[in-house]
Amino acid sequence: MSNTKDFIVRGITRDGYIKAVAVQSTELVEHARQIHQTLPLGTAALGRALSAASMMGDEIKDPNGSITLQFRGDGPLGSIVTVSDSEGNVRGYVQNPACDIPRKAPGKLDVGAGVGAGVLTVIKDVGEKEPFAGKVELLSGEIAEDIAYYYYASEQLPTICALGVLVDVDQSVKQAGGYMIQLLPGAPEEIIFILEERVKEEAAAGRSVTSMMEQGMDAKAILEYMLDRMGYEELYQHEVHYECKCSRDKVEAAVLSVGREELKRLYEEEDTVKVTCQFCDKEYVFTKEEIGEMLLRV
Ligand SMILES: [Zn+2]
Repeated sequence: MSNTKDFIVRGITRDGYIKAVAVQSTELVEHARQIHQTLPLGTAALGRALSAASMMGDEIKDPNGSITLQFRGDGPLGSIVTVSDSEGNVRGYVQNPACDIPRKAPGKLDVGAGVGAGVLTVIKDVGEKEPFAGKVELLSGEIAEDIAYYYYASEQLPTICALGVLVDVDQSVKQAGGYMIQLLPGAPEEIIFILEERVKEEAAAGRSVTSMMEQGMDAKAILEYMLDRMGYEELYQHEVHYECKCSRDKVEAAVLSVGREELKRLYEEEDTVKVTCQFCDKEYVFTKEEIGEMLLRV
């Protein structure tokens, strides 16, 4: 029976040469759409970036670790930022959620043109003092190819990445998910060959993540299907959600960080200061009194 809740599933081949992960993210991408009021192009781009972050974050072992993906392209969508905790729970935003451009073909959103040319920065906080940051040029702006290129260029890990978001006629998210298959060091050439053939077959048959999901396959079934000839074994699976970590304390720290001059100006010119969380749209209100009290602390 296929699982309808969002979840992540991870596995490895018996020979230890291939690791794989898949995420089913329909609910969390729909949640993001409702928060940010994205139009289909923004829904697809943000949804792909959220799905990728979830799979990448889930791999971090430190429970306080996180991963941040920043797509800074020159396209009309503007920047896309997604963050995942070490359990694959994600949050994110796209700079211009209401951006819309002509489709590539009927039903084909042109995410690459929406994102444009630019840079992908991956910031991994694995619990050590300084987070690790890797930077690569955006290969196509289609997100999945950019993630695969990041792994290849920055971590020397040959990676197959597929991501998909299917937007329904009412603009809600019908299906969203993705998978990543990675070759570990020492993998023999014939494995690479078998895997490449497998991916070519899928492409030739016009099968995508969302078309498989439309046929009733969940993330677990997709991984099993992709790796059925390779001796695939599942390691674990668990639910994932859209989850913002903002709090009044964190927002207060951000307000304090603007510096004494700006804080003083706010105190003198504003009755209240409202700060909206970029990730969840929650509004935090600080009264004149509270700003005055904060002024005493900087
Ligand atoms: Zn928030």
